[in-house]
Formats: sequence, structure tokens, C-alpha cells
Amino acid sequence: MGFNHIKLPRIGCVKTFEILPDNVTPKSVTITKKADRWFVSFKIETASINTEKLVDVVGVDLGVKTLATLSTGEVFDGAKSYKKLESKLSRLQYLNRHKTKFSNNWKKAQLRIAQLHTKVADIRKDTLHKLTTYLAKNHSQIVIEDLNVSGMMANHKLAKAVADMGFYEFRRQLEYKCKLYDSELIVVDRWFPSSKTCSHCGHVKQSLSLSERTFDCEHCGFSCGRDLNAALNLAMAVSSTVTACGLDNADVARSEAGIEQIV
Ligand SMILES: [Zn+2]
Repeated sequence: MGFNHIKLPRIGCVKTFEILPDNVTPKSVTITKKADRWFVSFKIETASINTEKLVDVVGVDLGVKTLATLSTGEVFDGAKSYKKLESKLSRLQYLNRHKTKFSNNWKKAQLRIAQLHTKVADIRKDTLHKLTTYLAKNHSQIVIEDLNVSGMMANHKLAKAVADMGFYEFRRQLEYKCKLYDSELIVVDRWFPSSKTCSHCGHVKQSLSLSERTFDCEHCGFSCGRDLNAALNLAMAVSSTVTACGLDNADVARSEAGIEQIV
């Protein structure tokens, strides 16, 4: 059983909405305020949990149209539900533009805007959490691409998508969850041509525009979805070098294949 209050310095006893566990000693406690609500978060030390891994190696291609495509063929859609909230948000901001600053009506509207912002952020974060937990729990090795985020930011169309999907947040969550569930995160060099390479025969295309959603190999005739092809290449970047060189040389082989970092 837990308890439903916490004693804070200066403030004193505060009742919490959720029941708190009573058998852990937090290393640190952080209090934050989002819109009009207060949150308390604890940092605790925990041993890694070894879950049964259903798949050995999985490649993950993050995208703009779909959040993630896995080399197993599974597809994770981005959170669509917040699109409605976003239009509501811009409408509120528009309606609020002529109100007298710091008037009661203005304050009320500002709070409503802040609440909506928080809701949108929460939905995004929740979608990412579901994906990263699923990956870390069920796969021994997860291969992702080190995204050239600064390069992508230069492209305005992509910049919004990158920010929306939370690529940084995706990697941050995956890093700590892999440690928690005893799986390995492998980050492939951003120069690895995962999109342009045929996952069937290894032929590398000269160019592939962003609008081309299907990968058609002119060499072997193989055809599959662009994102799935990229995810398959990421998965193979690891497994092929491991089988070709034996486990002892796996690390060397990885660095030759352009794999940057093993977390
Ligand atoms: Zn091919």
C-alpha cells in the first residue's frame, strides 16, 4: 500500500491525486507546474528488468507520414487526435488577440490556451512512450539512424515534422528504456544510405526524392514501401556484420559499417 500525501520543505503536507509507493527512497524530487496543475516527480534507482525478447534485431525508421516503421513490418502511426486540439488552440489564440492584457477575461483565456498546449504535448509524449516501451521490452537489439536533425531543420517543411514527432525525445526515451529492459540500442551513422539501398540486393540508388514513397530497385526488381525498406536496411546493418565476422569481431565490423555508437 502506498500513501496519498507528501511532505515538502517550507510548504508542508500536500495531498496527491495518485497513490505514491512507500517502499522506495527517491534520489531526488522535482516539483513542476504545467498550466494550472502541479506535478511531483521522483528519481529512483532500479535494477534492470530482463523481459523476454520476441525479436532479436529490429530496425526502426522514423518518418514524417507515419511515426515509425519497423523492419518486422509493424507500423506506428503518429498521434492524430491532437490535430483537432491544435486547430482549437489556434482559434483560441486568434479570439484572444484583442483582449486587454492582464484583464480577467484575458487571464481566463490564457489559462485555457496553456491547458490545451499541455494536452497536446501530453498526447505526443504518450504516443512516443508507447512506441519506445514496446521496442525496448520486446527486442534484443534496436537499430536506429542518427538523424541529421540540424540538416533537417534547414528544410522548413521537415522542421515542423521533426519537432512534432519529437525525434530527440524518441532517442532519449529509448536510451534509458533499453538500459531498464536490458536491450541494446545501436545508432547507425547518419551517412548510412538506409533509404537509397535496396534491402534485397544491396544496390544503391543514385537518388531518391522524398516524394517517392515506394522503393523500386532497377537492379533486381524488388519493390517495397520506402520506410520498410529503410527499416530492413537498418536491421541488416547489424545482423549481417555479426554473422559475417563472428561475435568477437562484431564491434569492429560495426564501426566499419558506419555504426557510431552502442548504448
Ligand atoms: Zn535490388
